[in-house]
Amino acid sequence: MTDLHQLSATALARLVRSGEVRARDVVRSFLDRIDRLDPDYHAFLDHRGGRALADADAVDTARARGADLGPLAGVPIAWKDNLVLRGEVTSAGSRMLDGFRSPYTATCLQRLTAAGAILLGRTNMDEFGMGSSTENSAYGPTRNPWRPDCVPGGSSGGSAAAVAAALCPLALGSDTGGSVRQPAALCGVVGLKPSYGRVSRFGLIAYASSLDCVGALARSVEDLALWLRVAAGVDDADPTSVAAPLPGLEPDHRDDLRGVRIGVPWELNGPGLEDEVAASTQAAIDALRGLGAEIVECSLPRVAYAVPTYYLIAMAEAASNLARYDGVRYGARSSGARRCEEMTTVSRSRGFGVETQLRILLGTFGLSIGYQQEYYGKATRVRELLRADFRQVFGQCDLLLSPTSPVAAFPLGSRVDDPLAMYLCDALTVPASLAGLPALSQPCGFTTDGRPIGLQWMAPPLREDLLLQVAHVFERQTDHHQRRALS
Ligand code: GLN
Repeated sequence: MTDLHQLSATALARLVRSGEVRARDVVRSFLDRIDRLDPDYHAFLDHRGGRALADADAVDTARARGADLGPLAGVPIAWKDNLVLRGEVTSAGSRMLDGFRSPYTATCLQRLTAAGAILLGRTNMDEFGMGSSTENSAYGPTRNPWRPDCVPGGSSGGSAAAVAAALCPLALGSDTGGSVRQPAALCGVVGLKPSYGRVSRFGLIAYASSLDCVGALARSVEDLALWLRVAAGVDDADPTSVAAPLPGLEPDHRDDLRGVRIGVPWELNGPGLEDEVAASTQAAIDALRGLGAEIVECSLPRVAYAVPTYYLIAMAEAASNLARYDGVRYGARSSGARRCEEMTTVSRSRGFGVETQLRILLGTFGLSIGYQQEYYGKATRVRELLRADFRQVFGQCDLLLSPTSPVAAFPLGSRVDDPLAMYLCDALTVPASLAGLPALSQPCGFTTDGRPIGLQWMAPPLREDLLLQVAHVFERQTDHHQRRALS
């Protein structure tokens, strides 16, 4: 069968489970495609080659024996380089972890393999998740499959590019302040950041622990629902994981949105948007109204403080999390030092990239005696006010809508020297992160020169069902998601 690579995860699992297609052939076709195309995009840092084929053979053998195959049987899945897999290299996009092999496996990867998925390969990312373009990877940037001169977004840029180029049907990412949603938007795919705690963080290399979420990217909403059913749930190894039941995620195939109240906060839907992003969002709002949804104009008064609040908290937590990389226990140790302290200094100066060092310094400052209340303390209080804004607005509407990113994919190199311009890319995604809300990005149009534009949905905590249902209706009633970057 040709064109296996264009099929969804849902379709591939159905074919493998019914025996119409062998898992080996599915995996083989993706591996061939990665070998042929990925040198141009660098979405992957490596793939598991023969070991992925051996895992596929195990699925085919189990089927031949009549065993009950899992819901992701034979589906090849890529994962971001900050999720650890026992015995395999995990570097979090950093020289600091060059060659590090993990002694254990992340819960989210374990749940995938238990569901029959095949782990295909590791995708590129900004170092430790810090960035919005994947240009902060120590292993070189990833290119956007729609426009190779442009960035794929970040920090899960490798996962987004891999799905957009049909090098895999589904990829895992992590989202601390937008790192699943923003690259999904810039690469024209669907990306889900679940509620904080919905998916175990055990085995996710920490960036900012009170914000980090494991998420996924795919080319359809249905595939993300399939993934979430497998991935969600409490995990004894992650005390912040939640045991809340997952309400019906089956798409109910309704064709309209009558009775759904969609809030449009003006602060996230106008100021600072590129014209074509604003126009596509407006067209989406008109289409949603046409489907019967009630559009509610609303306000999140404190959202203007979201970017500084996010960066103060994220940098403070990062400075604390990254203190463990001392050249003793993990990864790179620089040689030639005469004293212990010197060894740590040299290892950290050589092992971390410039952006990471900048954030460690700012985060440490924000936590230092005399300044902690002024910076980190104030940011945590503003975070509470922002949560209160969301609670208030969810009294008037069921979901919120905005563009995912104020800008479409930008040229490689165009923002690297301006950290503030890069941070402003996150203005629309960090609010949901600070409040722990589930949020989803889906394609809603293209610029005239063919760069994708993404629409963001936000729902109350643990209401992924609402996000997926409404996004599924929008997807079925529009054709933006059907365009492909590569045949
Ligand atoms: N771009 C944001 C940052 O650099 C978000 C990153 C993320 O979600 N991991 O912090």
